[in-house]
Amino acid sequence: MNDEHSRALYDRALSVMPGGVNSTVRAAIEPYPFFVQKGDGGHVIDADGNRYVDWVLGLGPLLLGHDLPEQVRAEVQRTASEGPMYGAPTEIEVDHAEFVVRHVPSVEKIRFVNSGTEATTSAVRLARGHTGRNKIVVMQGGYHGAQETTLVEGDADNPRPSSAGIPQSFSEHTIPVPFNDEDAMREAFAKHGDDIAAVLTEPILCNYGIVYPEEGYHEFLREITDEHGSLLIFDEVITGFRVGGLGCAQSEFDITPDLTTFGKIIGGGFPVGAIGGKAEIMEGFTPAGDVFQAGTFSGHPVTMAAGLETLKFAAENDVYDHVNDLGDRLRRGLTDIVADQAPNYTVTGTDSMFKVIFTRDGPAPSSLEEQCPAGCRQDPTCPRYDYSPKNAADVKNAETDRWRRIFWGQMKEQGVFLSQNQFECQFVSYGHTDADVEETLEAYKQAL
Ligand code: PMP
Repeated sequence: MNDEHSRALYDRALSVMPGGVNSTVRAAIEPYPFFVQKGDGGHVIDADGNRYVDWVLGLGPLLLGHDLPEQVRAEVQRTASEGPMYGAPTEIEVDHAEFVVRHVPSVEKIRFVNSGTEATTSAVRLARGHTGRNKIVVMQGGYHGAQETTLVEGDADNPRPSSAGIPQSFSEHTIPVPFNDEDAMREAFAKHGDDIAAVLTEPILCNYGIVYPEEGYHEFLREITDEHGSLLIFDEVITGFRVGGLGCAQSEFDITPDLTTFGKIIGGGFPVGAIGGKAEIMEGFTPAGDVFQAGTFSGHPVTMAAGLETLKFAAENDVYDHVNDLGDRLRRGLTDIVADQAPNYTVTGTDSMFKVIFTRDGPAPSSLEEQCPAGCRQDPTCPRYDYSPKNAADVKNAETDRWRRIFWGQMKEQGVFLSQNQFECQFVSYGHTDADVEETLEAYKQAL
């Protein structure tokens, strides 16, 4: 592949930007990232004119792909041309808030911010302000943005900052536990129950290989938080308006969290985040309450137009059927390829998300009958046995170096753009086609 323009751009970027990028994960492609010139449906074209099937999709926001439908594009252009923003409220913010409140039952009020990180930061502050408590329980392997409370590693007895620049004393207020582990959660509440402001979790871990909750786990979280007067916060920055359609993942699991954080899709490809939830709790934000929250760009009219029109388009068209169907085909095709060629690897995902992780550790519960066409899914030695990782420990041994060699060496060379590391999930958009799925499966076949 010709890459001289990307290489030259990266050289320039390295001399004026730390690591040559504005967000860490972008630099993970080796030996250097390709620079994108433009998008086209479910594809991106790089600075040297190479075309890739794009399963990264801006890391999740582009539910409709790169070509915005006419109604979305027109509203974005109209809103931008009338003056980009004001520092005063606009009608489109109310329209968007009403749409979310109408479709997500747990959300009675919502505040828009500018990123998922801002959303989780504000949600955590709100939970602490509402309960008068300090501690936040998070899941090992979960990601909630680049913020002090959640950049934590270790375990409940020994939480440590996972980044330089965060005082150890901050992480003492965070309790990391394994996902799907009821005993660990019970123990955390037994020790610290009076000081736990909230349990913060993604309904499905999407930043660590895609880990699905076990039957009853979210009901358990709802009960134990209620019992102790703590809040349950679902971080739906990725799953929101992707898993479970317009009701989000919480509707799929039939759980009512106290607060939900959103990002990505609700901004239609523009910078966004949001915190939604019970009116009584949301009223804790200033100016109604005393938990300070503010932002120059929050509720930006262009973002609101892009997000609202994207969601309206999804409500009026077969968007979720299309992306979930292609997601299904990818997962089935990959399950067969992995069974035949790489039985030590695992296919994960749901709805319009998919991932191949380079490990097959941990237990092997079986739930999806159709994943074993050979009919021997009861037998864990069968390569088509449905294996699902249960928590971060099951995923952490994934062969990162091998993954890197195969994907940057081979998938990219075959024109398939996959998420930049072994753990983050990949997405299907309305702009993808059957041909994109076929091409991608063929490339995996070659690569694996
Ligand atoms: N929460 C989750 C679950 C995320 O996946 C992310 C980012 N991928 C964030 C929060 C942070 O969002 P942002 O990058 O917009 O700050």
